Amino acid sequence: MSHYSLIDIPFNLRHTCWFCGEPSFDLLSFPKSSHQVRQITHQPIELPACKECLALPSAGVSESIWSFRDQIKHALMNKYAKHLGIGLQWTKEELEASEFHGAILEGFGKSAWPMYEIAKERVEYTGWDLAVDGEPLDGYDESCGYEFNGVRYLSIQACIEYHVKAMSLDLVLLETLIEIVGSERFAYALRIAELNRDVSYKERLTIIDEIKNQEQDKDDLRELNEAEKLSATLPLVAVVMDEATAQPEAIEWAITHSCTTLESLIEQEDAFFDAFEHLGGPTAFALFDGLQWYLVARRDAVWCEESDPNDEFWR
Ligand SMILES: [Zn+2]
Repeated sequence: MSHYSLIDIPFNLRHTCWFCGEPSFDLLSFPKSSHQVRQITHQPIELPACKECLALPSAGVSESIWSFRDQIKHALMNKYAKHLGIGLQWTKEELEASEFHGAILEGFGKSAWPMYEIAKERVEYTGWDLAVDGEPLDGYDESCGYEFNGVRYLSIQACIEYHVKAMSLDLVLLETLIEIVGSERFAYALRIAELNRDVSYKERLTIIDEIKNQEQDKDDLRELNEAEKLSATLPLVAVVMDEATAQPEAIEWAITHSCTTLESLIEQEDAFFDAFEHLGGPTAFALFDGLQWYLVARRDAVWCEESDPNDEFWR
């Protein structure tokens, strides 16, 4: 027989559910049965819970009371998804102005907003620190689960499914968007899914293609920036001549491509424009022109030594 210890309960919370903050007159034993005691990371405990939280379904055996709490919250969120959806889709003012019509509000009537607030408070409630006889309970693990907008979900998938249910979104669309943009940009994916609630198969494909292209463009730009950063390694300076100005990036290109004379620059003209065409034709041409005059000037060894501030990088 295992001994279940009652957790320490602050006096003002003695009739409060540790999971959701509602009035509680019952105790929950964790783990549920004494033969599961060896599967959990802390000692068996009892804590105050409301009738509803006691009756919520939870899958399998949780290894700690905290992961069990995630399960309870998950079940609460699913049960009250429609209520919570009211606050996700409307503000209080919009609700009042709408005179309570619209599909989501059917059956809620004037109590829609209070019902949302109660459900939200219960989902966001985070008990008190757990201790037994003044000794804090060990084994808290925050690494599992997924957090979005201050609410903890069992997983990213649970977070997706919850929003789909609460906001009547397209599941496949939201899932695919998250795959493309990553879970750290959940709010962005959610916004797109929200703007495209009722999509046909074809419309969904179009949206997904569009977002994929956008992300690809961003990646390309990032790579380009990285490449530019890498190439700008020499502390070169612009060289102002009577005919034109040679820019540091062009001079660096010449140095790294062993392009020491005007002749070799003419030979490598195509490669030069390939490297700078992303800056636009006129800019690339100005860079090329400046470099031409610079290489002409460098034919004079005295000029190189006395007038070229970048001379040391050519040796
Ligand atoms: Zn409760």
